[in-house]
Amino acid sequence: MNLLDQPRARLGWWPTPLEECPRLSAELGGPHLWVKRDDLTTLGLGGNKVRKLEFLLGDAIRQGADTIITCGAIQSNHARLTAAACCHLGLRAVLVLGGADPASPEAGNASRGDLPAAPAPQGNLLLDLIYGAEIIRVPDDEEVTVGPAMEEAADRLRRQGRHPYRIPIGGSNAIGALGYVAAALEIAGQAQAEGVTFDHLFVTTGSGGTQAGLVLGAALYLPGTRVHGVAISQTAEAKARLVDGQVAALVARLGLDPNPAPKALVHGGYVGEGYAIPTPAGWEAILAAARTEGLVLDPVYTGKALSGLIGLIREGSLPPTSNVLFLHTGGAPGLMAQADLLGAYLAGK
Ligand SMILES: *Cc1c(COP(=O)(O)O)cnc(C)c1O
Repeated sequence: MNLLDQPRARLGWWPTPLEECPRLSAELGGPHLWVKRDDLTTLGLGGNKVRKLEFLLGDAIRQGADTIITCGAIQSNHARLTAAACCHLGLRAVLVLGGADPASPEAGNASRGDLPAAPAPQGNLLLDLIYGAEIIRVPDDEEVTVGPAMEEAADRLRRQGRHPYRIPIGGSNAIGALGYVAAALEIAGQAQAEGVTFDHLFVTTGSGGTQAGLVLGAALYLPGTRVHGVAISQTAEAKARLVDGQVAALVARLGLDPNPAPKALVHGGYVGEGYAIPTPAGWEAILAAARTEGLVLDPVYTGKALSGLIGLIREGSLPPTSNVLFLHTGGAPGLMAQADLLGAYLAGK
């Protein structure tokens, strides 16, 4: 099945901007840096999930769905954008959200199986409420917890005569990842127009679909560009396995030759204590991007990813003559939800 034959709902305006970052490049004494502004994907304060949702909701609508069920952490950007997209397309959204807000004091008291009290809504959760999504809170966002909760919600909706469609965490499956195969094609067109060849493309790796789409998309449309994932949870090895599995699923869906399958490269070492827990290097990256280029990164995803890119520059792994593209995947609402932690970091500097 051809990429362009896949059902697709229109949710954004494409292409997103491609910008040079001369001041950030100079600050880092490093390669020639560019940023792909997928934080500006128009819908619902933007982010990478919009590209995935175009294909996921295109598929859902083709199947006759009227209600979308998805899941994530309490400050999930994916959940927020699913809620926004559902409003835009006249669908209902049910969000299964795991765990306590890391920014709220209750986080220290939350233990597995012990449902924490609802935090004052902020960031993504605040937007979920504005969009009128049904929110089901569960203790954590592990598959063993959210899987049964989504199944239960689907059963209830079917009994009510509705037609639910389930989207996995982060929108990362062979359908969602098509959004980033299409993004690679878009980047190839922009690079050609700018007369630049990107030697490296850096992306945040969470649920993996963004990197998987780009790994396959680069193999198809960006020869000469190496895709680097920066893990924001778990180990580099676990993320590489996750992405490789999603690339294989994409290849199968598109009916492409499975050999040779492009392999994912994922860097570890920038996660810190865990998912959504900010790191000093991540805050430094956020300040550097903001103070040189006016970009707004976030502590959960893009700040850690840029800290990985900065780490590799400092190691000497990226020659100053190379062209490096950083994919800005959004996440600003998550930054707003960690305002007190950023305040504490700035006060301690
Ligand atoms: C979800 C997300 C990512 C990670 O994308 P995956 O496809 O889940 O790996 C990166 N940045 C932001 C802001 C996100 O919301």
